[in-house]
Amino acid sequence: MLPFFSQDHSALQAQVRLWAKNNLFAGHESEDDLDQRARDLIKQLGIAGFLKHAVPRQFGGARKQVAARDLCILREELARGDALADTMFALQALGSFPITLAGSAAQKQNYLPRVASGAAIAAFAITEPLAGSDVASLQTTAVRQDEQFVLNGTKRFISNAGIADFYVVFASTAPEKKAKGVSAFIVDANTPGLAVTEKTKVLSPHPIGVLEFTDCVVSQSALLGAEGEGLKIAFETLDLLRCSVGAAAVGFAQRALEEAIQYSKARRQFGRAIGEFQGIQFKLAEMATELEAARLLVYQAAWAYDCGGEEPKQKSSMAKLYATEAAQRVVDQSLQIHGGTGVVVGNIMERLYRDVRALRIYEGTSEIQKLVIARELLK
Ligand SMILES: Cc1cc2nc3c(=O)[nH]c(=O)nc-3n(C[C@H](O)[C@H](O)[C@H](O)COP(=O)(O)OP(=O)(O)OC[C@H]3O[C@@H](n4cnc5c(N)ncnc54)[C@H](O)[C@@H]3O)c2cc1C
Repeated sequence: MLPFFSQDHSALQAQVRLWAKNNLFAGHESEDDLDQRARDLIKQLGIAGFLKHAVPRQFGGARKQVAARDLCILREELARGDALADTMFALQALGSFPITLAGSAAQKQNYLPRVASGAAIAAFAITEPLAGSDVASLQTTAVRQDEQFVLNGTKRFISNAGIADFYVVFASTAPEKKAKGVSAFIVDANTPGLAVTEKTKVLSPHPIGVLEFTDCVVSQSALLGAEGEGLKIAFETLDLLRCSVGAAAVGFAQRALEEAIQYSKARRQFGRAIGEFQGIQFKLAEMATELEAARLLVYQAAWAYDCGGEEPKQKSSMAKLYATEAAQRVVDQSLQIHGGTGVVVGNIMERLYRDVRALRIYEGTSEIQKLVIARELLK
């Protein structure tokens, strides 16, 4: 049991670990029909009760407040089994936490219980073709017309594009105010003027695509929080989720280490198991040490978020930066230990090699995490 865990956390970890072993470890035959597999996973995660950890108890959730440690435990164990299961869980939290933070009573009542049960799939749409790391430069506009807003613009790299039931969309209601002019809206997927114009194929199976808003009219009741509060809502959402990206990385790295240990014992060359060579032993020792350091950083950051520890923002950036970079190294070393077998399409290492990569990019690249850490150091 980690020092940052209570008994509740250990129980949740045991529960999701067992569930993942029974439901995810067998793998899946093909990567076709990704959207259907994503929908099925949401149903399964809802039935298992895991999605309740994405919303507060008052709206069907597990705890009074959404807890970073719960998200991290779930993401670590799900990622260890199947990247898509981790993605689907994480997006329910990412797409609904803005509503938990800033929603009206009616908005919370309408969306959060459905997120918790899996009846509705959530999405978070901020990135644009010309606004990635620099989200404040986003160009999508929402122009007020009496009791309504008219949205125009393009969002890209939006996870759950095409399968989400609603999108939390960030658009400028006052472009002249730049970052302070961005507002958040909840846009139902069937709203006229909203179209999914591309399903983007990425390295690891992940439902993602481009949204186009063309004179898309939403009522004033779709505004989330006050006008101009959009980026504050977005950044506070990412403050919760950031360390959980590190947790998913830890899950991939844990699986890679387990696979490497097994393979080192089973594979024989030069008349002995390759695990008997010191060159392989050093790799395993380095992998296990990096993994442990990553895990401690992740759960320390999650504990700081949940319990009001010092500098949670800096800690979660450190956790995301270190865990995602370390996981990449661990997965790479494990694949090396597997030799040619590791690059065979369909081999678990080939899959993990692809699964781990995007974590260093989304929700703030490694470079952006370094800027956040340095800003805190120099302020
Ligand atoms: C799998 C996946 C899922 C995603 N899901 C979502 C989603 O659900 N919703 C959503 O809104 N977005 C999503 N994104 C988008 C993601 O958040 C962006 O890709 C990310 O923020 C980086 O933006 P960019 O790709 O435009 O890169 P850019 O910002 O163009 O960066 C390009 C390179 O320049 C570097 N760079 C940029 N600025 C600086 C700087 N100041 N100093 C040093 N280096 C810098 C970056 O680190 C990077 O290496 C997803 C992306 C991926 C890959």
